[in-house]
Amino acid sequence: MNSSSDFLVVGAGIFGVTTALELRSRGYEVTMIDPGPLPYPLAASTDVSKVVRMEYGDDLQYMRMVIRAIEGFHRWNEEFGENLYHETGVMVVSKTAMSGDDYLESSYRAVLEEGLKPERLSAEEIGRRFPAWDTGRYVDGFYHARGGYAESGRVVGKLVERAEQAGVSVRPGQTADKVLTDGSRVLGVRTREGENFAADHTVLAAGSWTPWLLPELQRVMTATGHPIFHLKPKDPAIFRPPGFVVFLADTPNTGWYGFPLLREGIVKVARHGGGPSLHPEDDERVVYEEDFAQMQIFLEESIPSLLDAEVVYTRRCLYNDTLDEHFWIDRHPEREGLSVATGGSGHGFKFGPVFGELIADTVEGKANDWAPKFRWRELDAKTQGVEASRFHGDAEEA
Ligand SMILES: Cc1cc2nc3c(=O)[nH]c(=O)nc-3n(C[C@H](O)[C@H](O)[C@H](O)COP(=O)(O)OP(=O)(O)OC[C@H]3O[C@@H](n4cnc5c(N)ncnc54)[C@H](O)[C@@H]3O)c2cc1C
Repeated sequence: MNSSSDFLVVGAGIFGVTTALELRSRGYEVTMIDPGPLPYPLAASTDVSKVVRMEYGDDLQYMRMVIRAIEGFHRWNEEFGENLYHETGVMVVSKTAMSGDDYLESSYRAVLEEGLKPERLSAEEIGRRFPAWDTGRYVDGFYHARGGYAESGRVVGKLVERAEQAGVSVRPGQTADKVLTDGSRVLGVRTREGENFAADHTVLAAGSWTPWLLPELQRVMTATGHPIFHLKPKDPAIFRPPGFVVFLADTPNTGWYGFPLLREGIVKVARHGGGPSLHPEDDERVVYEEDFAQMQIFLEESIPSLLDAEVVYTRRCLYNDTLDEHFWIDRHPEREGLSVATGGSGHGFKFGPVFGELIADTVEGKANDWAPKFRWRELDAKTQGVEASRFHGDAEEA
């Protein structure tokens, strides 16, 4: 073996780097490998922005995890000496009135009952407070000041720096190729670059690449591709907070969400819905004509002032989607010395500040109240995704 440590973390996205940092803070020798450069350009975590919202319908666990994560993002802002989490507030709106147990109503009720103060919005208030949305299309919703977005690629960059400073052996330029075993015991990995990394315990946190490293996971998770668009508005002023904030535009029925003007001078819009299954390395990851057409329809009916914005960048970003859309964080049930921390399913980044403790507890075999939801589990092809804010219909329907 070329190198040996207590823990080997494979992948330096948000799952991996927070795990490496936490394990190091618990006194372990930790090595983290990644193809690099870091943050890795094709990683899901490496993006200009990710939504941080606690609105998860009636799923109180996710809501409470995000409440804790937001405290963590504020702490990171102080520790980084730079604000990479921006608490612009989040606007959650719908084309129909809140009712019954729909996503809008159950999220609104959950945050209210938690003692938080979402502000209910009528159609008139949506148009008055957020003029770019003055179309009459959205008739109900709320604004919640506690939420916003994180500059995700930059956050990962800072965390990698901190990991190095803390004494994690960070090895970009190393791509795990094969899990090394002795019977049922995992010894580490061999990389494509020809090095062997040994560890008492290996944590696979390679995002959508993970099921390719551990094929038994391919039954329960798959990489799916989702379009994002960067739009350069003609009149940037109207897309700044507080008049334009992170938005979820009836996402369970449309999938569309987005961000106010980012430091890059763009408004980013994206779709949290279904997407084609893709191989993380054998795909060009481009946005298709249908995605453009759907985006135009969304802008026409929702934010017409963005219709003449130049599309300066597009990307198809990969979710590592589990069948039920919950994360997958557990020790391998049959292979000693191996854990998996993945399955972000298009909503994982916001949990970054709470992942380290959750994942480190799990791989150490310690109890953690949040862990059971993400345990190794049996799922079959009939399993439905249950992330409440996500659009689960056909693209043509929305
Ligand atoms: C379009 C899009 C929009 C999203 N929006 C949001 C949002 O608004 N809010 C939110 O909370 N979440 C969002 N997510 C989800 C979030 O980005 C992911 O859940 C999260 O970033 C996944 O982190 P990860 O560490 O599992 O994977 P990644 O960030 O992909 O990191 C995996 C790492 O593993 C490395 N790796 C790969 N193969 C190997 C190998 N063989 N050996 C070693 N290392 C390897 C890669 O280089 C990479 O650095 C979105 C995702 C996408 C794609």
